[in-house]
Amino acid sequence: MVDLQQQYKQIKPEIDKGIQEVIDTCAFINGPAVKSFQDDLETYLGINHVIPCANGTDALQVSMMALGLQPGDEVITASFTFIATAEVIALLKLTPVLVDVDPDTFNIDPEAIRRAITPKTKAIVPVHIFGQCAPMEEILEIARQHNLYVIEDNCQAIGADYIFHDGLQKKAGTIGHVGCTSFFPSKNLGCYGDGGAIFTHDNELASQLRFIVNHGMTVRYYHDFIGVNSRLDSIQAAVLKVKLKHLDEYAVKRRAAADFYDKAFAGQPGLKTPVRYHKSTHVFHQYTLVTNNIDRKALQEFMASKEIPVMIYYPVPLHMQKAYIDPRYKEGDFPVTESLSEHVISLPMHTELDEEQLAYITSSLLEVINR
Ligand SMILES: *Cc1c(COP(=O)(O)O)cnc(C)c1O
Repeated sequence: MVDLQQQYKQIKPEIDKGIQEVIDTCAFINGPAVKSFQDDLETYLGINHVIPCANGTDALQVSMMALGLQPGDEVITASFTFIATAEVIALLKLTPVLVDVDPDTFNIDPEAIRRAITPKTKAIVPVHIFGQCAPMEEILEIARQHNLYVIEDNCQAIGADYIFHDGLQKKAGTIGHVGCTSFFPSKNLGCYGDGGAIFTHDNELASQLRFIVNHGMTVRYYHDFIGVNSRLDSIQAAVLKVKLKHLDEYAVKRRAAADFYDKAFAGQPGLKTPVRYHKSTHVFHQYTLVTNNIDRKALQEFMASKEIPVMIYYPVPLHMQKAYIDPRYKEGDFPVTESLSEHVISLPMHTELDEEQLAYITSSLLEVINR
């Protein structure tokens, strides 16, 4: 699905130098490389504060802790997402309230958010799924009316721009009260291990976030809050500093691959190509097709026989996951999510796809659907 080896070869001298510098100085934890990457990312995103942490899941958890969400508070999120979003809500004993998504963009449906609001609702967690922003203006308006926090799960859309109705653009993750991202190797900005970060414009919230990622420590060995240990290590920061410089060029390559796929599959009744949302640029974390009347299992097997990975993100909706079975929800409650789970397929999507590979992937897929 991704080709990290080829990508590394392109930037090997810079990456190796960055890693070697960290080892030479032995500043493995909270070294200058972390601060340097943090500064670069703040500039890139146009945000006051980036707080690095250990992974995207922690970024979400720490955000909810720093905002002071309390057990029993309801947090609204999309039913079609990676488990981490709901997991941290459940871990903090908050109440996850799931809402369905838009069948075209796969992003959270603002009308469904409105219907899910109760007096206990405290926050909305839109997930910018597969590399495209959720409808943030509508979400901000709902949040304003009901005095709710907006926590952006931006683990899949770093670098995407949201375009407001007046033309103003903001980077995904910098629009709500707090934004969260992951630097897992296969994400659009991936390191060589685990990593994550939290973004905010708010000075007070930023200092709270910094305390919580560091054991709730305000002054060395004085712990004013219950925190966690969640750090981005210096070696990962050195890798990320190099890769951040290439992030926009990586998005261009991903879009080119997506355009190639789009053209190849245009007019195929069995395949719906990804819909571009007019208020967001798309950084194609995934290229996801919705199949129609196609035996998905046979398709996957055929593609596997051609050594082409085809993945299903996500095969089981949150409300049907064993650990999240909840008397509030039953099969049929989230028809769009449930249908997507049964019909989506994601094709290889990364920065190193050349025309030959793309032609091989598309012709193989056309072969199997037209058999
Ligand atoms: C990857 C991902 C996460 C979790 O990030 P980790 O760094 O793996 O903890 C959370 N939410 C979404 C939508 C993701 O894609």
